[in-house]
Amino acid sequence: MKQDKIWLSSPHMGGTEKKYVEQAFTDNWIAPLGPNVNGFEEDIKNYLFSDSFSHGEVAALSSGTAALHLALILAGVKRGDEVICQSLTFAASANPITYLGATPVFIDSEEETLNISPIFLEEAIKDRIANGKKPKAIIAVHLYGMPYKVDEVNRVAKTYDIPVIEDSAEALGSSYNGQKCGTLGDMSILSFNGNKIITTSGGGALITRNRKLKEKAVFLATQARDEAPHYQHSEIGYNYRLSNISAGIGRGQMEVLDQHVILRREMHNFYLDLFDNVPGVRVQREPEKEYFCNHWLTIVLSDGTVDFEELRLYLESENIECRPLWKPMHLQPVFEKELFYGNGVAEKAFKTGLCLPSGSNLGEKEKSRIRTAIKDFFELT
Ligand SMILES: *Cc1c(COP(=O)(O)O)cnc(C)c1O
Repeated sequence: MKQDKIWLSSPHMGGTEKKYVEQAFTDNWIAPLGPNVNGFEEDIKNYLFSDSFSHGEVAALSSGTAALHLALILAGVKRGDEVICQSLTFAASANPITYLGATPVFIDSEEETLNISPIFLEEAIKDRIANGKKPKAIIAVHLYGMPYKVDEVNRVAKTYDIPVIEDSAEALGSSYNGQKCGTLGDMSILSFNGNKIITTSGGGALITRNRKLKEKAVFLATQARDEAPHYQHSEIGYNYRLSNISAGIGRGQMEVLDQHVILRREMHNFYLDLFDNVPGVRVQREPEKEYFCNHWLTIVLSDGTVDFEELRLYLESENIECRPLWKPMHLQPVFEKELFYGNGVAEKAFKTGLCLPSGSNLGEKEKSRIRTAIKDFFELT
């Protein structure tokens, strides 16, 4: 008989989520607004801005993708504009650029965090300006929860006066220099999709320091209704608000977020131990003390002597899910005509990396199965 599937990252309920959802039923707040939406926003706000790094505002939305779409609108991106985007990421980082009729300009990664390379970022900006196309925004991503080179990216962005949109979809619970990811950009986004570190079954948030921008985001997310007793519109709106049911799940999840970060980091330690004596394999780690990673997913990189596709298939035969890294956007059929600045780091990571099961709900039994399977594959004892 086949054993239960071990997933890369699956939903992990804390227990109190149902209480908030039941309250929504009791009060008949079955709508994309209500006490859970406000409460969830407050919880995120308190979490992100607990350590006195200025004040911020949170708008709970239907997805991280919706949050990115609204962030780009608020940054003033229009048809024909160019927006810089990290190439090694999930397509949701880049897709909203095209919703606006703008064009992505993709940037390679640096080796240490595998996130946007500050060097190619600056090179691209200079080149686009020389072509009369100053980019309107920079989308930088904390991939797998690993903070990008925040100081260097911000320095470049500041030099050319271009806003940074921080894609923190995978990095809730991570921080850089003691400051939480989700508060490090001019605007930031979070995702609460089913596979993220906490989930609302589907959802996201936009974070900004500017109260007016938050109000504008909520206005756009609720069909851009002008103030009038009838339905009056002077702008195009969207239906992007988070439902009060989903937000109830989110309130329960916020109570266990810190615990989830501890457990994901324990999974990372488990893999550090496991691969300690495996030649040719390196577990990605925080490069310096400034970096604190939630280790949403632990990734391993091969020096080329180990074929991770074989390992992936072997683990799959043991009903253990693994996955290659995100395929870079500049190699995607849908984006292959777009500009790219880089020298092969993202492509190499894609070819030589593997994401390992990292859920906060993996116990001793699952760890033991993973340990045995990996040891068998490498014929270790
Ligand atoms: C999940 C994810 C998103 C999109 O979030 P959704 O809530 O699924 O729309 C965006 N960027 C990255 C890097 C992600 O991993």
